[in-house]
Amino acid sequence: MVCRICGCPDVKWLLVSTVAGHLECNPKSVRRMIKRGEIDAVRVGRHWRVDHDSLDDYVRRDSVRFSEP
Ligand SMILES: [Zn+2]
Repeated sequence: MVCRICGCPDVKWLLVSTVAGHLECNPKSVRRMIKRGEIDAVRVGRHWRVDHDSLDDYVRRDSVRFSEP
């Protein structure tokens, strides 16, 4: 199953590399989004797990922003 909002696999926690691949940005940008608090994530050891719900919210907010005239 694939999420219809962001295109990522339909699981609760996503790898930074997965998010970067689906948003077509690099992992650095994803980590910056996490640090700015734009998306929620938890740190598991050395790696971040991105909260899928919060990513979907971010994608929705952004598409609204970009579709405004
Ligand atoms: Zn999603």
